[in-house]
Amino acid sequence: MSVIEISEEYTSKDRHLATHIPDIGKPRIVIIGGGFAGIQVVKNLSMKDFQVVMLDRHNYHTFQPLLYQVATAGLEPDSIAGPLRKIFDEEENFFFRMAAVESISPEENTVNTDIGRVRYDYLVIAVGTQTNYFGNKSIEELAFPMKQVPQALNLRSHILQNFEKAVTSEDPEEVNRLTSFVIVGGGPTGVELAGALGELKKYVLPRDYPELDFRQMKVYLVEGLERLLPSMSQYASKQARKDLEQHFDTIVKLKTMVKEYDGYQVHLSNGETIPSETLIWAAGVKGIILPGLEKAKVDRSRYVVDEFSRVVGYDNIFAIGDVAKMSTKEYPDGHPQVAPVAIQQGTRLGKNLTRLIRGREMWHFTYFNKGYMATVGRNRAVADLPFKIKFSGFLAWLSWMFIHLVYLIGFRQKIVTLGNWIWNYFTYDRGTRLIIRPFNYRKAVSAKKKVLEKQV
Ligand SMILES: Cc1cc2nc3c(=O)[nH]c(=O)nc-3n(C[C@H](O)[C@H](O)[C@H](O)COP(=O)(O)OP(=O)(O)OC[C@H]3O[C@@H](n4cnc5c(N)ncnc54)[C@H](O)[C@@H]3O)c2cc1C
Repeated sequence: MSVIEISEEYTSKDRHLATHIPDIGKPRIVIIGGGFAGIQVVKNLSMKDFQVVMLDRHNYHTFQPLLYQVATAGLEPDSIAGPLRKIFDEEENFFFRMAAVESISPEENTVNTDIGRVRYDYLVIAVGTQTNYFGNKSIEELAFPMKQVPQALNLRSHILQNFEKAVTSEDPEEVNRLTSFVIVGGGPTGVELAGALGELKKYVLPRDYPELDFRQMKVYLVEGLERLLPSMSQYASKQARKDLEQHFDTIVKLKTMVKEYDGYQVHLSNGETIPSETLIWAAGVKGIILPGLEKAKVDRSRYVVDEFSRVVGYDNIFAIGDVAKMSTKEYPDGHPQVAPVAIQQGTRLGKNLTRLIRGREMWHFTYFNKGYMATVGRNRAVADLPFKIKFSGFLAWLSWMFIHLVYLIGFRQKIVTLGNWIWNYFTYDRGTRLIIRPFNYRKAVSAKKKVLEKQV
């Protein structure tokens, strides 16, 4: 649990005023997080009954399932991110503040943020997750996470800079390190990243860097369990592995863990060492637990909630999406941390808050599982649908693209993304491989080291 210190330089009065949120005389719902879950709460509320205050550390919503395409030069960041103010610009009772929430004071019904204190009548925690390094500090310092847009952009620059450096290097070992990529975690993100890097190797980079021998470029996918996509069917796992190995030249290593990394060599649990200057960490996430809710029960970094998404121990505080753990008969360990769960919980809570304020009984939450999909690369994806329907290949890939377009926030984002995909498909190209802000990896690592040292 990371506890963020509140700066002493604010007086309590200043902190309160800094947010400039007027009191409009209606019950105030404060929503922390404008992700999949938080947005749905607002969309499903009766806005005339409430004042809604949304707080997010970013001023945009991120469509995380497509982050890997930003990292591999397939899409620009504004295709997968949309400004939160814009989404609700027609709602007069909606107030947005770009603020990082640091703690909650349930006795006073306030949340403490880096711009001041905000009072609530009802609080919705929808903060999602952060990367889980399982306590390995050296990996946290040196690996590339894939949770936020700036992280995806850093990775994009780093990959492209590696190739720029490789063409000028006279040291074959250095070239090998620069053009070898190790992805840790064989879930959907790892598989999608491996496929996208494979596509870059096959279709795009050889045209940009004819001086380099691309047989030397290697993409490793390392997974601790015995199969890829462990949350999907055996069929999907086998098909994804086959596609990655046969069509995208990925070197898949199962039942293998990364033990150590020094920025140059990746040491694996099977004794092998892979020279690489890029380690991408897609091996897990954990809920963001905010300090202050002393009565709440937290289980494996998720707030335990009842069937109405209410944080156990509090009447007016709710948690939804990735950060919530609701145990049901079908999901005794909580629901999967995926977008459809967050969307459905947000929808149900929005409606329930309206029922609550009108003195009606709330409805309990039931998850409707529409199935799971993962894309492997061009023309290839795997899908597990209800009633044990499984399919893969081109049809699965088309379905995957269609569903992602439907769920992308904003009409503009949908059009730009579709345009990019059509362009990439027919030209075998990636239009966005620009190094706009060069990423200084070594400098970033030493900055991260200092932050981590302070936390100890
Ligand atoms: C790389 C990647 C790929 C994924 N691919 C898929 C996929 O293909 N299919 C799928 O279904 N799911 C996928 N997921 C999971 C899916 O994105 C999550 O399940 C979903 O985003 C959860 O929604 P949420 O609203 O709970 O949290 P999020 O969408 O993460 O939103 C949380 C929000 O809270 C804000 N926040 C966090 N902390 C604070 C704070 N202290 N103060 C203020 N604001 C804060 C964040 O900025 C963010 O906007 C993927 C996730 C990742 C990281």
